[in-house]
Amino acid sequence: MICCKECIDLLFDYFEGSLEQETKNSLEEHFQDCPPCIAFLNTYKSTTTLCRETLNQIEIPDEVRRALQNFLKEHKIQQKKM
Ligand SMILES: [Zn+2]
Repeated sequence: MICCKECIDLLFDYFEGSLEQETKNSLEEHFQDCPPCIAFLNTYKSTTTLCRETLNQIEIPDEVRRALQNFLKEHKIQQKKM
């Protein structure tokens, strides 16, 4: 099983469609059991911007929150609110 942090690291590739099938499966398996990651996925999918408000509405571990912020920074994804 992969953890949230790995999951987020893989997300970009996931959207690009460049993941190996096996990795993709593990990722999708993780999504089924992890509300914060699903919320992130859905937000990303629908808007490609991640709204901090959305993140605040769900219980999300600090580790994941930090990983999300790094993800956004790395990929220069615009956040609606700082
Ligand atoms: Zn997760």
